[in-house]
Amino acid sequence: RADGGPLLRLRGIGKSFGGLRALKAVSFDVGQKEIVSIIGPNGAGKSTLFNCITGVLRPDEGELFLRDKEISTQNVRKFVQKGVARTFQHVKLVSGMSVLENTMLGAHIRVAGGTISAALHLERDQEKQLRAEAMKQLKRVGLDNVQHMDAASLSLGQQRLIEIARALCADPEILLLDEPAAGLRQLEKQKLASLLQDLREDGLSILLVEHDMGFVMGLSNRIVVINYGEKLVEGDPANVRTDPRVIQAYLGT
Ligand code: ADP
Ligand code: MG
Repeated sequence: RADGGPLLRLRGIGKSFGGLRALKAVSFDVGQKEIVSIIGPNGAGKSTLFNCITGVLRPDEGELFLRDKEISTQNVRKFVQKGVARTFQHVKLVSGMSVLENTMLGAHIRVAGGTISAALHLERDQEKQLRAEAMKQLKRVGLDNVQHMDAASLSLGQQRLIEIARALCADPEILLLDEPAAGLRQLEKQKLASLLQDLREDGLSILLVEHDMGFVMGLSNRIVVINYGEKLVEGDPANVRTDPRVIQAYLGT
């Protein structure tokens, strides 16, 4: 898998909603084993950018490459099969289903390539395979001890971890996270940060959109700041934190 060059490349991504140019020619790379964070004030275009990258929105302009393959025109399932997995800002778990079952929904995308309803009617050996993969990923995020609990009964922090375990079941090379620290308590944030660092150590690339500056500063190799739909600054956390343009953008809103 490792071949040196950037894993994900964005080139000139633009998106308008009617007359509003929500994104203007945004370009940056995510390298291998790198954590890159997108930050910016409210309304800057972070979610729009994230949705363009994950195939939820189709950009009006620009190109998106995973290694050398253009991916912006493909649907989300193909995207997952190509090595990109995402979580959602609002946790999407099925209540009444256990932690393990919820995680298995992620493993299913990889193994069967089918729908969620099909996941409930699996062949026995296929189910075994899903279960094993899901357990492996639950262990990785530290939730194997609560596998039988109703997913909805866990804390928000734990639910986010289930989402990550589920995404990991697709065996991605890059993980895309939409505000993973939102609503978490301090201790949960610390646990999440150390998990993301472990995943990077394991060879994963991570791109996250985040509101919480403190969370991304300690974690990121690189930070991309967007404001009014444009890339304002890109750099390492120390430079971004002290950049007058960044301070201005945050104070100005
Ligand atoms: P952020 O996530 O940084 O807060 P967004 O990407 O949600 O910013 O929004 C960027 C701009 O695009 C905002 O002005 C917002 O109102 C607008 N916008 C976002 N989504 C839509 C949409 N679906 N239709 C119209 N305007 C939108
Ligand atoms: Mg947003």
